[in-house]
Amino acid sequence: MGTKGTEIVSMDVNELLELLNKAYCDEWLAYYQYWLGAKVCKGPMKDAVIAELEQHATEELGHALLLTNRIIQLGGTPITTPKDWYTWTNCGYDAPDDPYVGTLLEQNIKGEQCAIGVYKKLMDITQTADPVTYNIALQIIEQEVEHEEDLQALKEDLELMVSRK
Ligand code: FE
Ligand code: FE
Ligand code: MG
Repeated sequence: MGTKGTEIVSMDVNELLELLNKAYCDEWLAYYQYWLGAKVCKGPMKDAVIAELEQHATEELGHALLLTNRIIQLGGTPITTPKDWYTWTNCGYDAPDDPYVGTLLEQNIKGEQCAIGVYKKLMDITQTADPVTYNIALQIIEQEVEHEEDLQALKEDLELMVSRK
């Protein structure tokens, strides 16, 4: 990274890189969980749920891109092996083994809630120590908050639909 760009980071860069890499692994796992969920999804309102899952998959991949760009800019190396996503992840991976829409929504809501916590923590740590990373975390958390809300709204509609039959 540029000399002055590095100078303004007033925290341990290795610690920051570790946090960025952990979030990077979360994003790839979230991407795959959404992407596959959209393929296997079954049940009432499945068209609306699939559209949302597909949109979120694309957005999680966008988060991975923002993170990897920052990791490289800070002189780090993004995790190179998918096998390591599992050991580095904060939020884990919930396999879509049960294709029911309600189950998929619940699993992904849990993932979003974890992600919101991860980026809030990253923002708290970087707020003054690294404004550039702070801004990236802010962009991402705005979408994670939206994701949680989208999924909870779908789950609410699904429950209303099922209970009124
Ligand atoms: Fe994300
Ligand atoms: Fe998300
Ligand atoms: Mg959405």
